[in-house]
Amino acid sequence: MTMNTQGRPTAPASAMASVEVETVSGSKGLLQHEPLIFEMDRWNATGVDLPKTKGKTSRLGGLSRKAAVELPGLSEPETVRHYVRLSQKNYAIDLGLFPLGSCTMKHNPRLNEKMARLPGFADIHPLQPARSVQGAMELIRELEDWLLKLTNMHSVAMSPKAGAHGEYCGMMAIRQALLARGEAEPRKRVLVPASAHGTNPATAAQCGFIVDEISADKRGRVDMAAFKSKLEKSDDIAGIMLTNPNTCGLFETDIKEIADLIHEAGGYFYCDGANFNAIVGRVRPGDLGIDAMHINLHKTFSTPHGGGGPGSGPTVLSEALSPYAPWPVMVEDTSDGSGLLTYADHAGDVEGSDIEPFGRLTAFQGQMGMFVRALSYMMSHGADGLKQVAEDAVLNANYIQARLKHIMTPAFEGFCMHEALFSDKFTADGTETIDIAKALIDEGYHPMTMYFPLVVHGAMLIEPTETESKGELDRFCNALEAIAKRAAEGDESLKGAPYLAPMRRLDETQAARKPVLKWVPDNPQSVAAE
Ligand SMILES: *Cc1c(COP(=O)(O)O)cnc(C)c1O
Repeated sequence: MTMNTQGRPTAPASAMASVEVETVSGSKGLLQHEPLIFEMDRWNATGVDLPKTKGKTSRLGGLSRKAAVELPGLSEPETVRHYVRLSQKNYAIDLGLFPLGSCTMKHNPRLNEKMARLPGFADIHPLQPARSVQGAMELIRELEDWLLKLTNMHSVAMSPKAGAHGEYCGMMAIRQALLARGEAEPRKRVLVPASAHGTNPATAAQCGFIVDEISADKRGRVDMAAFKSKLEKSDDIAGIMLTNPNTCGLFETDIKEIADLIHEAGGYFYCDGANFNAIVGRVRPGDLGIDAMHINLHKTFSTPHGGGGPGSGPTVLSEALSPYAPWPVMVEDTSDGSGLLTYADHAGDVEGSDIEPFGRLTAFQGQMGMFVRALSYMMSHGADGLKQVAEDAVLNANYIQARLKHIMTPAFEGFCMHEALFSDKFTADGTETIDIAKALIDEGYHPMTMYFPLVVHGAMLIEPTETESKGELDRFCNALEAIAKRAAEGDESLKGAPYLAPMRRLDETQAARKPVLKWVPDNPQSVAAE
């Protein structure tokens, strides 16, 4: 028997031969194979014991159901086990480093959750009279104040419910501001760098603008010559949508010149603030000439998102755009001298123009639970702590870049900001980015963001965030380093990864082109019998 350094027995090397083990049950180790809940068992059973109805007089007329409701019939323990087993198949930030670039998947302090569950925040209703929820409204006010101080902007719209929704808010404000000028031809052209997140061109198009792509230069930043040539004909320029730091993980060093030139051309500057984590506390977007920017509370201010929520994308606006902010806005009620916070939702005309703000963005005021989490995160860090967030996030990403650049190819020269970006240049013919990503699953990590941004061939975008320790970063780098070495040597076995996950490699092209969205029972008759 062999022993490890703590004197515990380890499996002899011969037992670890790389045979693929198939089990009868489909389960692996202590992880049970899990079918869909619909495939699990009986259709005519129920987990609840209800007394038989007495008599047979139905008052439904001819409307009573002829076939089964088609709900699975599981007992309570079966139901509990089903969902617990599914949860074991999930990867989560509470299980390990989540390297997804552009997503800022940082640890979510438990304090946030405790605060968000306080009944005064969690159990209130948007239609309650404002005077009965003054504490919650004060929290929103305080959060607005932090956001405005951190960004040095003029106002903030709190209602957008995600980053993309914030983009929509900012671009709608820009559209109204352009209309208010009363120019004969409304300006339509929005410049969007080639490296932009897909939501940017989608938002511009959704708001009725025409997207005009600007190429990146070889430093991974906006190509200034290309940008200037786009401005030669300026009378149709509505604005620019730019991410800073950009999605290549690089600070746009010409940002002030870009802001000046776009303003000179008569357009507005929308900044995608999803990467604010890299500069929070260090750079104030308002000082850079930005007119509108969303802040992903669920990225920069913790609460990693996944599976569609929860998110929140407050959008800060410059003085020029503030009159076009969506309604409602929070105001102090001065009518009765009480100073109570209340919502004003009457959309009045903007002074000197007949163009109004674009109206309401959502039914109510925004994502209360997210507001509480974000403010809890801000207040527990303090101003100095938030500055350190940015510094540590950038340090961690540069550590990864430095540790791996001897084997992987950084996409651009020099230091990065909060994410390390590699191209697939180092891989041998036959292996590619997706093989590396899938092999990471076998090593116990969720893959990095891959094939994005599009300007880098076979891109691998890794964002560790500030919450990882050096030890954790080393463990991750060791795993990725070993896989990268195999990719550089053209190790064919990478093509079959993952080997150890509940599901092996899926046909992703087929899944995207021909998604199977409806479950069809193998034997429909058995379902119909009740
Ligand atoms: C996440 C992200 C968005 C969109 O934010 P959502 O909250 O997911 O809608 C936009 N731009 C960039 C660069 C992002 O990383």
